[in-house]
Amino acid sequence: MQLLIYAQDLASIGEVISGSKEEKILVNKLKSFLEEKADEVVIHNVPVMLWKEKHVSLNIVVDGIRNISTLALPYTTSTHIVGDLVYIRNFGFSKIRKNVEGKIILTEWAKDPDEAEHQYLEALEKGALAIILYDRYPSRFRRIVVKGTYGYSYNTYTTTPIPAFSIKREDGIALAKEASNKELKAELTVEVNVQNASGQIVEAIFNGKKENEKIYITAHHDHWLTGFTDNILGVASLVNIANEATNWKLAREMRILSFTAEEGGSPGFTEWYWLYGSRWYLENVVLKHRIENEIYAVINWDAVGKGKLTIAASGYSFRHLIRKVTEGFKVRIEFDSSYFDSYTFSKIGIPSATINTMNDLVDIYHTDKDTINIIDKNVVLGAYNVFRKIIAALARNSAEIRMKHERVFLKSTLRKAGIDVNIGYLAIPPRKILTLYKPIHRGNYREEYNPFETHFLPEVITLLKYSKVLEKAINSILEGNVQKALRLLAKIPSEIMLPGDEKSLPIAPIKSIITFLKRGHRNLAVKILENSVEMLRRNAMKNLREILKELSQ
Ligand SMILES: [Zn+2]
Repeated sequence: MQLLIYAQDLASIGEVISGSKEEKILVNKLKSFLEEKADEVVIHNVPVMLWKEKHVSLNIVVDGIRNISTLALPYTTSTHIVGDLVYIRNFGFSKIRKNVEGKIILTEWAKDPDEAEHQYLEALEKGALAIILYDRYPSRFRRIVVKGTYGYSYNTYTTTPIPAFSIKREDGIALAKEASNKELKAELTVEVNVQNASGQIVEAIFNGKKENEKIYITAHHDHWLTGFTDNILGVASLVNIANEATNWKLAREMRILSFTAEEGGSPGFTEWYWLYGSRWYLENVVLKHRIENEIYAVINWDAVGKGKLTIAASGYSFRHLIRKVTEGFKVRIEFDSSYFDSYTFSKIGIPSATINTMNDLVDIYHTDKDTINIIDKNVVLGAYNVFRKIIAALARNSAEIRMKHERVFLKSTLRKAGIDVNIGYLAIPPRKILTLYKPIHRGNYREEYNPFETHFLPEVITLLKYSKVLEKAINSILEGNVQKALRLLAKIPSEIMLPGDEKSLPIAPIKSIITFLKRGHRNLAVKILENSVEMLRRNAMKNLREILKELSQ
């Protein structure tokens, strides 16, 4: 398979961090290949924050010194620490009794690898000196970005005050056992290079009949550790498409883009550290030259390796087209996700999609086990065929995304939510409806960690959905079934956050209601619930009016 041959060649470069010399090697390879195939190749230099581990060591001091191999999590800064090692079970998501202040915490990595971020913040708040995470899966190291504050703002800059480390599961379990029998001291040394550097975006242009309808085919080339599925295969699939496209007569202009700084590299430890390269491109190329309306669609490849093939796509119309084009293939189609570069474009209303198998890669995600050995070749080949089919339909055969579906979708969604507004007379541009899909975080950042989910019009639809669950809880209490009410309430967050905008949408004071119910104050609980339902309905309608007004302007 040609795709795998390209990928193996790119894999030989090793870890590719945005702004590093390895990135330049990869970019040069890609550039010289694309120059042979495309009409024009442009390199965009992107100012990034380079973070690179130079040296890291972990010594255990107990009857002599023992060395354990370890990796630093980005963006740990250079430091030297000696302290008592304490093992805490499930640190970050269970109540702890042990004092960890001034100690080095050893714990198991959370089930969702990205939750390391939450474990880190807990360690920081409790005054720990450092945190060492051992993996949930054997014999691997992992890198996940940790940061110093709760939140996902695009412009809040923070440092990483204490260091964080990844060690192998086997070493972690042995150390945990030892630490429960005797006092262990750990000595940690990290030397990292953090500096301003230049990352690169490669853009190859393939002229087509309509240059004001551009099809973007994208992937990111920076990767932590071995990164075969995340995202060397993505870059290889771009190369393969370029190769095939030389024989295509293009109905639309086609642009192949390889992004830098998807995994990190946003200058100054930005809270929303991922997708920085595509955000830079959007601002400094697309919006600067006002070509956003010329981008017909974006098709992105990220994290494909094994398991179920998924396409995350923005907008009913684009999902509809993808469903039609991929008929006969086993593909799950869902809303676009804020964890992919496609989101950068769908956020401003451009139909965008990412092909991925992200949900089935947890074991190897950002580890040194993300190599060619773990992939399911049939899945990767199937993904490539689907990828090519969608691209060919749009770039070669000018299949149309029928944007009029968006208004129908908006209307029917509102109707299903029980809202009877006449939006027919409002001249809402369909692309603006795509901007109503937003990432949400269930609950307060500090109290819980949840991966972002994409909801349509969360300021209205999600609030109304929760108001209905609260009503059910009221009815259960009135019927005397408090247990059922408690079960319903357990599923509701006290608020939802809109990450990026950093807006909080209050739902109900769930903790107090549960306490009142458990102590037998049923009338009080019902009263608060009724008030919350009223507030949710009022807020939802107020938000809807504001959003519709803004959309029709
Ligand atoms: Zn990725």
